[in-house]
Amino acid sequence: MGASSASMPRRWVTAALCAVALAVVLVGAVARADDDDPVAGVAPAGSRPAASASSRGGRTLDLLVRRSELLGRSVLGRPIRAFELGDPDSPTRILVVGCIHGNECAGLAVARSLEAHARPASLDLWIVPDLNPDGFAAGTRQNARGVDLNRNFPYRWRPIGGPGDLHYSGTTSLSEPESRIAYELILRLRPRISIWFHQALGLVDESGGSVSVERRFATLVGLPIRRLRRYPGSATTWENERFPGTTAFVVELRAGQLPPGVAGRYAGAVLALRS
Ligand SMILES: [Zn+2]
Repeated sequence: MGASSASMPRRWVTAALCAVALAVVLVGAVARADDDDPVAGVAPAGSRPAASASSRGGRTLDLLVRRSELLGRSVLGRPIRAFELGDPDSPTRILVVGCIHGNECAGLAVARSLEAHARPASLDLWIVPDLNPDGFAAGTRQNARGVDLNRNFPYRWRPIGGPGDLHYSGTTSLSEPESRIAYELILRLRPRISIWFHQALGLVDESGGSVSVERRFATLVGLPIRRLRRYPGSATTWENERFPGTTAFVVELRAGQLPPGVAGRYAGAVLALRS
């Protein structure tokens, strides 16, 4: 009897410890699910870290950033913004540009999905939703001066066409404020991976960086991979040549808008590239 009454509290203590241990495991699992799984990494809007003690790479989830930055303005004075999400100290930095050709902007939905929901650990994620807001507003490929921004970067730049022409490359490389904004941001960030969204060929372009990164993304989103012509003055070619070992590539979305679920799938694929 005496032995029995003495053992009861010990059982309660054991049961309490088990409950605490289970709670810790569950909390950790919730935090890791948000952290590890590429799709779960796009967490529901308004969700918050499950536990402040949860960490990865020594950084607590509470310290992950979500901030915006005004990078500059377009020819017509429209703001061009970037969003930084995740861990600013992470050596893994990914840049997503949702729109550079103003009439090929379905990638905006991917940028918005990331911006709204992603809370990536072990990644410093930068998003420029719209690099060409004047073209987007006017429904034109080019910017307000009729320049194809994706022929205006300083790798093998050469004069092509005139204002408003499909591939008009501007008066000189980096003649346009929009391309200068991207150029300066990329020099500052030196992203390991940059993804530039276009339309409407429905493929991932072998753009001159790591084919395995491009192939992985293509598989995740269900697009074929092809090699398109590499034009002078293109942003991805400039990045791949300027920063060997990094990968900048073009994703050609199909025509039309991305349904919300599909945009989320693309967002998940972006996050999956961090590992
Ligand atoms: Zn394009």
